[in-house]
Amino acid sequence: MCNKNCLIVPEFILEGLAKDGSIDAKETLHNLNEIQNNKELKIHKLTEIDKTIKDVETLVITTSKKLENALANLINTQEKRIVDSPKSNEIQFNDNEIDSLILSNYHYVKNTFNNYIQIQQNLTNKIKGVDKSPQNFDIIERLIKNIDTNLNTSLNNLTELQQIRLINLEKSSLLTKKDITNINAATTGISLVVKDLIAELVMAEEKRITLYKTVYNNAERHIYDCENRWVLRRTLARKEGDGISIDPDVNKAYNIIGFTRSYFKDRFNYYSFDNRGMDIIVNVNYGRNNLNAKWAGDEIILGDGNGKKFISFAQSIDVIVHEYMHGITQLIAKLKYYGQSGAIDEHYADVFAIIIKQRMLNQTEEECNWLIGDQVIGPEFPGIALRSMKSPGSANNHDLQPSHMDNFYTGSKDYGGVHINSGILNKAFYLASMKLGIDITEIIWFETLKELKPKVKFIDFFLIILRTTSKLIINQKIPLKSTSVIEESFMNVGFRQ
Ligand SMILES: [Zn+2]
Repeated sequence: MCNKNCLIVPEFILEGLAKDGSIDAKETLHNLNEIQNNKELKIHKLTEIDKTIKDVETLVITTSKKLENALANLINTQEKRIVDSPKSNEIQFNDNEIDSLILSNYHYVKNTFNNYIQIQQNLTNKIKGVDKSPQNFDIIERLIKNIDTNLNTSLNNLTELQQIRLINLEKSSLLTKKDITNINAATTGISLVVKDLIAELVMAEEKRITLYKTVYNNAERHIYDCENRWVLRRTLARKEGDGISIDPDVNKAYNIIGFTRSYFKDRFNYYSFDNRGMDIIVNVNYGRNNLNAKWAGDEIILGDGNGKKFISFAQSIDVIVHEYMHGITQLIAKLKYYGQSGAIDEHYADVFAIIIKQRMLNQTEEECNWLIGDQVIGPEFPGIALRSMKSPGSANNHDLQPSHMDNFYTGSKDYGGVHINSGILNKAFYLASMKLGIDITEIIWFETLKELKPKVKFIDFFLIILRTTSKLIINQKIPLKSTSVIEESFMNVGFRQ
């Protein structure tokens, strides 16, 4: 997870600038590391809420499964009972069904019972010689006839009840859980276990909705002015829907974030960092002579630069989107910020930074300069940008990015080369986009992200991206030639299948 040092300007560049004599570069490194301790607590809290939501989601899933199983068993058992019975009148009813059988036959049963009493009384009187009238025989004959009729009616009712049950059973295998709840309330035949499970499910869903409502919002923008102090969320300068601020940094960040939020929503139906509308917190004017920008686990931090090496980071589309994307990768793939998985994290941040930069500036792939951080470098910066996706390693005097697997960095600096080896993948993305266009590559890259494991290696990334490409072709989302273009682009930077 990228919550340690997701800086736009890698430490090795700051160290390079410090060596060149920049005190601000040294100060920036120190101060940005300091704030991380305060952030740990907040990130921990966020993780706990996420965990609770996950637990409830698991509960909903397992309860649904249990419910389905219970229902399937119930239906099987009842169907079996009906099929296995040699005679229909041998069907066993459960308590609920017996209740309703008794209820529907109540009047007949009651009459039958009364008739029996009368017959018994008349017979007794006859035997005792109390009743000598021949009328008694007529009465007995009539009563016996009544009993037969009543018993026949009862038997008919029983058959009807069996049919109703069969119809209900058929229905319940086709209907949704909600329908079953209604049928369950209206008819007999669904066991108490199932009822309990439905209740459990409803409660779990209610709990989930409550949690979502309390924790997640409408992806509102909150732009804070840190007033050049090393304090986060100092003054709320512009929140969602507010009019423009007097600070151009505030407005620029507000607009870029708005564009980015819409892009992910419109293109991938993905809402904010977590796809649940988490609020988007941005800090501008953070620190004095701060030569960096970073994603800090749940908020974006932007420095102002010192006017020499760097100028305001809030004025750059790709810088802000780069940090925004770290928020998305953190929540989708939870990539480990070290070595190859860390370099893939950095790669993703650059990929969507350059895509949104092109879209926001209405540039074609040919018009784009494929540079990251070209808008934040100051007059004394030794280069044209922080990184070049088109030509990794050429952006400045301290640029260490390779553009081929032959020059893969294996050292321990920069968290095992997260901002270094990302150059290889950046180049592959550039090559693929020049042939397919970003309309296609953005789909491939975003869908691939969903398949990545936290410790993913470059070779796995290559295989997963090929697999995702094939899937997208089958689903007719991208053209057939995509596979060969992706293959070729990765082979050009040294990948072998
Ligand atoms: Zn980064």
